[in-house]
Amino acid sequence: MTMQTITAVAECPECFGEVELRDVMQNEIVQCGECGSDLEVVEVDPVSLELAPEEDEDWGE
Ligand SMILES: [Zn+2]
Repeated sequence: MTMQTITAVAECPECFGEVELRDVMQNEIVQCGECGSDLEVVEVDPVSLELAPEEDEDWGE
């Protein structure tokens, strides 16, 4: 897995708003400023966001 960080603007898969990414790594969780959704950075080149699974503190699955 690459540890490359990126700074880019990506599209929120939930509201299709712009999400500013600053020095994020793959698998990092970011929050959409438009709709507040938690988004996972699934790819950094090219950048791609997916909705993060809704979990509170259980990271088992
Ligand atoms: Zn959004």
